[in-house]
This record gives sequence, C-alpha cells and structure tokens, in this order.
Amino acid sequence: MTANLLDGRALSQKMKGDLAQEVQGFLAQHGYAPTLAVLLLGEDPASQSYVKAINKACSDAGIGCNQIVLPATTTEGQLKAQLRQFNEDPRTSGVIVQMPLPKPLTQNMVTDVLSPDKDVDGICPANAGLLALGQEGFVPNTPNGGLALLKGYGIDLVGKRAVVVGRSNIVGKPLALLLLQEHCTVTICHTRTRDLPAVTREADILAAAIGRAGAVTGDMIKPGAVVLDFGINPGEKGFVGDVDFEAAKEIASWITPVPGGTGPMTNVMLMRNTLRAARKAASR
Ligand code: NDP
Repeated sequence: MTANLLDGRALSQKMKGDLAQEVQGFLAQHGYAPTLAVLLLGEDPASQSYVKAINKACSDAGIGCNQIVLPATTTEGQLKAQLRQFNEDPRTSGVIVQMPLPKPLTQNMVTDVLSPDKDVDGICPANAGLLALGQEGFVPNTPNGGLALLKGYGIDLVGKRAVVVGRSNIVGKPLALLLLQEHCTVTICHTRTRDLPAVTREADILAAAIGRAGAVTGDMIKPGAVVLDFGINPGEKGFVGDVDFEAAKEIASWITPVPGGTGPMTNVMLMRNTLRAARKAASR
C-alpha cells in the first residue's frame, strides 16, 4: 500500500486564490487593504528567509506588508515602544514578531505588550486561553494549517485516537487542543514519554512536531494511520521531516510530504488571520 499525499502545496494554492478574492472584497468595502506588520530583530538567516516568504504571501493575497527590521541590540524598551506603535496604528491589522529573538529579549516581552486583537500568530496568553476554552481567538498558524489540511482532504476526525509528539506552545500543544475540539481522543507525547512507539502505534492520526529528522520510524506507525509531519530539519538534499517518509508511506493511509505538506499551509493561515483581524477591527 502507498499512502495518499496530504498535499499542502496544492491546497494552499487553492486557499490563496479564495483568500485573495476575500481581500479584494474587504478593500472594496473599506477603501484600504488589511496590513500585516512583520517585525524582525537582528539578522538570523532563517528568520530573514521566513520574512521573505511572508512578504510574498502578503503580496499574493493583496495584503499590505509593513516590514520593520530592528538591530539585534534593540532594548526591551525599544521593542515594547515599537509594539505599542503597532497596537495604536489603525491601519496595522496584525503583527508577527519573528522568533527566535536576539538575547536578552524574550517572547514574554512581546506578549506582555502586543494587543491580543492583533496577535495573528496566536502567541499571546489571551489567545492561548481562548483556544484552551474552545472559544474563538487567534490560533497559531502551523497547527491551524495542519488541521486545515486534514479537513481539506476530508479526513474523518470524530472519535479517532490522535497522538501528537511534541508539546511546544507554538505547534504540539495547540494542535492537541484543536484535535480535541474536533472530538479526537488526544495523547500528547514528549521526551519523557515512556515507550513512545507503543503510544504512537495506537494513533489513527499521528502528528510529529519534534524537530529531529526521521524520529518517527515505520515501526511506530499503525497501518492505515494518517500522518502529519511538521518537522523542518536540514538534510543532505534540502529539508526533511520528523517522519521517515519512505517507510511511513508504505504503512500510512495519508501522509504529508516534506517539503510541500504542513509547511505551505502556515503562511496561508497567517494571511487568513490577518484578514480576520482587519474585519474585526473594522466592525468595531
Ligand atoms: P520545539 O523544539 O519547541 O519542541 C519539540 C518538542 O518535541 C518538545 O516538546 C520535545 O519534548 C519533543 N521531542 C523532542 N525530541 C523528542 C523525542 N525524541 N521523543 C519525543 N518527543 C521529543 O519545536 P517546535 O514545536 O517549535 O517545532 C517542531 C518541529 O516543527 C521543528 O522541526 C520545526 O522546525 C517545525 N516547525 C514547523 C513549522 C511549519 O510551518 N511547518 C513552524 C514551526 C515549527 P520536551 O518538551 O520534553 O522537550
């Protein structure tokens, strides 16, 4: 058996087309386009390439992109002043701050100040709380994109055993909460999980957000499982996932390729959140 592909590239293209139309509608109604502020501190090369990709996603969607680059020596006071400026600017619909921040700046310094209404990356405690309560807020884009991929391919989630490997605040934990909302029975695994393969083998839906190439091997997958791979790890010939794709595709029923699976979905969800933030602000 060879698994079907959960093709994030194809689905994200379709979603981008629909989104661009909605953005045009917003522009026609309000006379301005939703705008995303992208704040980059320092010169981390990976962050620079993410920012480029965000810029392109904005331009494809017709969303304004206000890219601000501050030096790695930016102080806490300067960071917070910049964020307050975004909060107060009526034309800034959403804000994303590129992580990791140069030391000694921390994510908490961002979430202390950033308005939850403009937190289109879903990193503020208020949005994390809303997700935990099952209420509407901004959900982190990567897990939200993973869920959109499952739904886009009509994967039945109700009553399924879902196992999420990884408990970060930006991928694993919010994904587990999203799957719970979809009525999966969810287990979250991490480095202290005992007998990880025994747990993952129970999964109808297996999600890997680990950050270690090939950490999920074929023997860890239940035959017929749906496998979502969030890993983006540098390999010899480009990026590779957290799942041993070659082995997994012979066992799973559906699987995300890396690249081209969960990755392309992330920025579409970011664009969608920016449009939502703009709509919310315009309705106030
Ligand atoms: P983190 O490093 O923050 O979290 C990794 C998690 O995996 C931790 O909870 C850790 O457990 C767990 N883990 C690590 N090793 C093992 C192991 N051997 N067995 C079981 N659990 C393990 O990473 P992120 O969540 O930020 O990212 C995960 C992956 O997703 C990375 O490859 C990253 O590049 C990618 N990513 C992809 C995005 C996309 O757009 N698709 C966006 C963001 C990230 P513990 O908590 O115990 O340490």
